[in-house]
Amino acid sequence: MAIVQFPLKLVGKRMLAPSVAHLTFTRDDGQPLDFVPGQFIQVHFNYADGTPTRRSYSLATIHDHALGPGDAVEIAVSYVPGGAATALFEGLEPGGTVQASGPFGRFCLMPGDDNRRYLLIATGTGVTPYRSMLPLLEKAIAERGIEVVLLFGARTPTELLYGDEFRAFAERHPGFRFVPCFSRELPAPGSAHAHADVRHGYVQQFLAEFAPDAQGDIAYLCGNPNMVDACFEALKEAGLPVPRIRREKYVSSK
Ligand SMILES: Cc1cc2nc3c(=O)[nH]c(=O)nc-3n(C[C@H](O)[C@H](O)[C@H](O)COP(=O)(O)OP(=O)(O)OC[C@H]3O[C@@H](n4cnc5c(N)ncnc54)[C@H](O)[C@@H]3O)c2cc1C
Repeated sequence: MAIVQFPLKLVGKRMLAPSVAHLTFTRDDGQPLDFVPGQFIQVHFNYADGTPTRRSYSLATIHDHALGPGDAVEIAVSYVPGGAATALFEGLEPGGTVQASGPFGRFCLMPGDDNRRYLLIATGTGVTPYRSMLPLLEKAIAERGIEVVLLFGARTPTELLYGDEFRAFAERHPGFRFVPCFSRELPAPGSAHAHADVRHGYVQQFLAEFAPDAQGDIAYLCGNPNMVDACFEALKEAGLPVPRIRREKYVSSK
């Protein structure tokens, strides 16, 4: 069956980090694009030789209401040198359109989840599904009394995407811990991201500190495939059953 495509019009573009853009679109055919937080869209385009291709992007929109026609569709795109989609997005200006399809995917919080804690783990733009999940997490904290730990790997403080939003959410919700892990450079003392819950190293180095619990935890892993594999192995060794480890690897589809 052919995948239904629709146009997305760019209405806003800002840099979240030196090589990561936050792009805001609206669906340009008058139809709604609602989604379940954690899902992604695909963007369709042609290589220079005319061969069709596509790339996937997690939806970053904070999902606090059912999305109707004209509502914002937000994604965060990490620009990679020589990347085909990177060139498309770098050249796209407000008013321009891309072809898209979706939403797709099952990297979502499940209504039947009976866990006591979510371990949410990401590197880079892999954090965007968790941004869209914030209202659902708020509900789960309020209604089920669960805890949430967000372990977010970035190289430097300037690459801590949506860091202010996650920190503000953590301050409003004692059940939510935001733990940035910086692999290259820690925030300067007194600067915006300096906080007791900051670690120096890769996210997988700090998993054990949170004592993953086979009965009480459900883990989500999103972003760099090597990080996803390393954390998956560590969580399995800690005894988490595979269905309680949910994964989204940001691999390039060519
Ligand atoms: C389910 C899913 C969701 C995704 N969500 C997002 C998202 O929300 N945001 C996002 O930015 N990306 C996301 N990705 C990755 C995205 O689909 C593209 O792979 C990425 O944007 C690179 O595409 P490109 O065409 O610019 O580069 P390509 O033309 O595909 O690659 C160019 C070169 O860059 C290398 N490369 C590709 N990706 C990376 C990388 N991440 N880091 C370093 N080098 C790389 C390639 O190996 C190649 O050598 C997701 C992937 C999947 C499967």
